[in-house]
Amino acid sequence: AAPLVVAVSTAISAKQGLLIRNRANFEGARNIDAVVFDKTGTLTKGEFGVTNIVPNKGYEEEEVLSWAASLEQNSEHPIASGIVESSKERNITLKKISDFESITGKGIEGTIQGKKVNVVSPGFVDNNNLEYDKEIFNEMSEEGKTVVFVLLEDELIGMIALADMVRETAKEAIATLKQHGIHSIMLTGDNEKVAYWVAKQLDIDEVYAEVLPDDKANQVKKIQEKGLKVAMTGDGINDAPALATADLGIAIGAGTDVAMETADAILVKSNPKDVVSLVELSKKTYRKMV
Ligand code: ADP
Ligand code: MG
Repeated sequence: AAPLVVAVSTAISAKQGLLIRNRANFEGARNIDAVVFDKTGTLTKGEFGVTNIVPNKGYEEEEVLSWAASLEQNSEHPIASGIVESSKERNITLKKISDFESITGKGIEGTIQGKKVNVVSPGFVDNNNLEYDKEIFNEMSEEGKTVVFVLLEDELIGMIALADMVRETAKEAIATLKQHGIHSIMLTGDNEKVAYWVAKQLDIDEVYAEVLPDDKANQVKKIQEKGLKVAMTGDGINDAPALATADLGIAIGAGTDVAMETADAILVKSNPKDVVSLVELSKKTYRKMV
């Protein structure tokens, strides 16, 4: 979607796939102390596939998937595409939605055939004291899977686990940042267990999990208050305020238009390693000018 964005500024290095939109902040990139990464879609591919469907007593897998997928048709979250795709593979006919709303950072809600349906995060389920099999949940989470819950008329009818894949290039990016003495931080709305699993794969220095979209920007501010110059890398609509707050906002080219329109720089190739290229290019460009 990158070429569709009306870039205010010039493309400094098309060959490297770095699109600079804000030159002043790009100049500051050479002094960055920490890079904050959004997890889903940035450090991971953001392409979810359904791995498990765990229906509650009295329900079938297909039923759980059918309610969930019918509702997820209206969502643009990567979790949604995974669930809808899985329903297609099983030839499930999706039901019509008459009402749809997203619950920021926690899931979605809608009305289908006169019934209230939700697909939500573990945090939402815990806040509402709904019961589920914690053992199966923990087992799936510890394998790095993102688990969502399907509610029908406020009754929990099952869990759906999805797996995303870590970007191979993300690990190299973190390692190279380390060599430059730059601290790496992960920020995600996802569950703690999944967050730690991904962080371990990538050797990330610091992790903040279950961060609501509105708090992503606050978290960036808190890191800045420690006296650090912070770059934020993200892909989603809900990353935009954090991208704007950071000293350098970097959008992933494969991400949403909103993220790209807010960012100071865009990684056209969607390669997290290009964060390092950006820092190096800033150093090279502005060293000569001082
Ligand atoms: P991230 O920081 O990983 O990109 P988000 O803030 O977009 O995460 O979402 C946080 C959590 O909210 C997800 O991990 C999921 O549990 C829940 N969620 C958000 N959107 C949806 C959706 N369309 N369907 C189900 N769950 C959702
Ligand atoms: Mg994201």
